[in-house]
Amino acid sequence: MHNKIDLKGLSLEEMECFVTDHGEPVYRGRQLFHWIYGRGASTFAEMTDLPIALRTRLAERASIGALAPLGREVSQDGTRKYLFGCADGRQIETVLIPDEGRLTACLSTQVGCAMACAFCLTGTMGFVRHLQAAEIVDQVLALQRDLEPRERIANLVLMGMGEPLHNYNATVKALTILAHPLGLAYPPRRIALSTVGLVPEIVRLGQSGLGVNLAVSLHAATDELRDRLVPINRRYPLKVLMATLRAYPLPSRRRLTFEYVLIDGVNDRPEDARELVKLLRGLRCKINLLPLNEAPAIPFRRPSLERVETFQRILKAAGLLTTIRESRGLDISAACGLLATESAEKRLDTEECLT
Ligand code: SAH
Repeated sequence: MHNKIDLKGLSLEEMECFVTDHGEPVYRGRQLFHWIYGRGASTFAEMTDLPIALRTRLAERASIGALAPLGREVSQDGTRKYLFGCADGRQIETVLIPDEGRLTACLSTQVGCAMACAFCLTGTMGFVRHLQAAEIVDQVLALQRDLEPRERIANLVLMGMGEPLHNYNATVKALTILAHPLGLAYPPRRIALSTVGLVPEIVRLGQSGLGVNLAVSLHAATDELRDRLVPINRRYPLKVLMATLRAYPLPSRRRLTFEYVLIDGVNDRPEDARELVKLLRGLRCKINLLPLNEAPAIPFRRPSLERVETFQRILKAAGLLTTIRESRGLDISAACGLLATESAEKRLDTEECLT
């Protein structure tokens, strides 16, 4: 058969439609959904509670796609960076971060990124394409296959390559599968989505009722500065973004997270911290300070620890919950903002070879 349908990426409803279209009872759709996502099946042959005749028919008509594992690097701190190949030959990176015995998987949502933040290496790749829901979900399934028997992934963060809300439909579909009790069954409170601040999609996400945690990459507390660092700010300036976030339907006892990359001499001055305090006043939130990860293609510097701590002290004194996020996987370029599989990475490799 030429056009086999790839079942990975289908929602539960779509899988139920697929089986009923083929004259099977609707509960077979639930079984398939659970086998593919909940149990990570890669063949129909292993679906032992389906009649053999059905397994054979399924194998004729459908497939279960998978990312190709192309490489794995392990950092001194235990962080693992995976390189996966998509069906069209594009490549993406996924990072697995151990932290106090728990594993966090950092997933990509696009090949490249259109947002062009001034300090981010993924941004230098430009936008190549959106990932499909299957490709987002399969990053987790592929990681799970590589775990030691006693390891489990505790948290999922959409903080790899790409802007998840720019790829809204596939991202939400993937999240639904990742959170579904018959799917990968990750509780929404163990999932976080990080966005540069796409206002209409933040509103939609709030209305979706998915209940995942929301992180916003802020990086500046004035439009003048944010326009330069995060170009999308020109379309959705701080006033609009903050009004949207203040109206966001936060589940009780949850907080918004703000990420703030600290860049030496650019947004790390005490007055920047005081502007940030003003901007966030009254919001239920916490702030993650990320001292910039440097790379040759990034035209900025990381501030000294002293400057980082002074910045944090001002926020804390104003009652803001603030943590300094240590960079993980720096030695293998797995850290925040350093994921890039095409032009930028190649350029770096060449530079390393030359030195
Ligand atoms: N596009 C989304 C998801 C990416 S999350 C977003 O922007 O939120 C990746 C996080 O790493 C973002 O907060 C991003 O701003 C940050 N980041 C990008 N480049 C960085 C760098 N060079 N050093 C430290 N953090 C960086």
